[in-house]
Amino acid sequence: MKYIDEYRDAAAARRYAEAIAQITTHPWTLMEVCGGQTHAIVKFGVDELLPPEITLVHGPGCPVCVTPIELIDKAIEIAARPDVIFCSFGDMLRVPGTGGDLLSVKAAGGEVRIVYSPLDALTIARESPGRQVVFFAVGFETTAPANAMAVYQARRQGIANFSVLVSHVLVPPAMEAILASPDNRVQGFLAAGHVCTVMGYTEYEPIARQHRVPIVVTGFEPLDILQGVFMCIKQLEHGRAEVENQYTRSVRRDGNTSARQLIAEVFRVVPRKWRGLGAIPRSGLGLAEEYQFYDAEQRFGVADYTVEEASECISGLVLRGVKKPHECPAFGVRCTPERPLGAPMVSSEGACAAYYRYRGMRSDNASFSTAKNVANAKKEENC
Ligand code: SF4
Repeated sequence: MKYIDEYRDAAAARRYAEAIAQITTHPWTLMEVCGGQTHAIVKFGVDELLPPEITLVHGPGCPVCVTPIELIDKAIEIAARPDVIFCSFGDMLRVPGTGGDLLSVKAAGGEVRIVYSPLDALTIARESPGRQVVFFAVGFETTAPANAMAVYQARRQGIANFSVLVSHVLVPPAMEAILASPDNRVQGFLAAGHVCTVMGYTEYEPIARQHRVPIVVTGFEPLDILQGVFMCIKQLEHGRAEVENQYTRSVRRDGNTSARQLIAEVFRVVPRKWRGLGAIPRSGLGLAEEYQFYDAEQRFGVADYTVEEASECISGLVLRGVKKPHECPAFGVRCTPERPLGAPMVSSEGACAAYYRYRGMRSDNASFSTAKNVANAKKEENC
């Protein structure tokens, strides 16, 4: 496939890995921020190509994984109401709350619909004037522009039976929280290319300076990731801590200014609780004052819920890069994709799901050849 195969070339990947090995003289720990990058790393065995001095740990960039459990409970309560059509992306339906998930609400007769865009939910609201239509607006900066557009259009078009249950999170404050935590082991970041496509990367420059940590904006294919690792290791080996852009085919320093303006119009920065990470100041987006009418938490009176997380799931340690998924005692035993205990096993971007899917119960570091993994991945995609 044009523009995909080029970034999955096994021979080029091996050449990159050799170049990385040649410049590596110290042990280094890097974190890839995004769950999409984690899946590519595990699926193609990118980490297993790297020299033993380099450890890749997996970051918090899976929106489903970091959505707090009380938000799932709020969604379940709202979705169970007979006057509500609850719209969500599909991967939120199986995320466990304290007493079930959205799929069980649907099975019990609740009207829970999978949509592919918040604007689809707005259309449903327009066509269902007698019902309340709620969209579950989760995600990072990447999904914020489309969600902002749905709310903006609802206001412009006077669609009053539409609202959003918002749990947007922002990447830079989470990176700062990871760097500030006492058990931090991250020395360099591969930042998420799609987030920076929207937001640019100026917000990362003070983080790199203050924490003396290189940050390389990186794409999602194996060669993107290997190039991102190369750039990051080169900085570390030379004692530099700067923001560099590997993903130049998509990312500009200032991002997408129209999308950023729309986000700034509809949302404001708020403190946000992250599943597994706890509360982080100024790490989320909530509706701006002028758009409060569309806040589902206020409309359905669920704003004050708080819930403790299950203690068996160590997703907080996984999302901070302190532990790998197979180091969780429940991994593959009491926690599987069929019966998940935590969100990282549910989500298509979750690190636990990636390890379970591509490595099964392996806890060793036995080497897969990238050529074999590329071939397997292609076979899977052709199925
Ligand atoms: S394997 Fe399951 S229980 Fe363990 S951290 Fe991952 S999601 Fe949580």
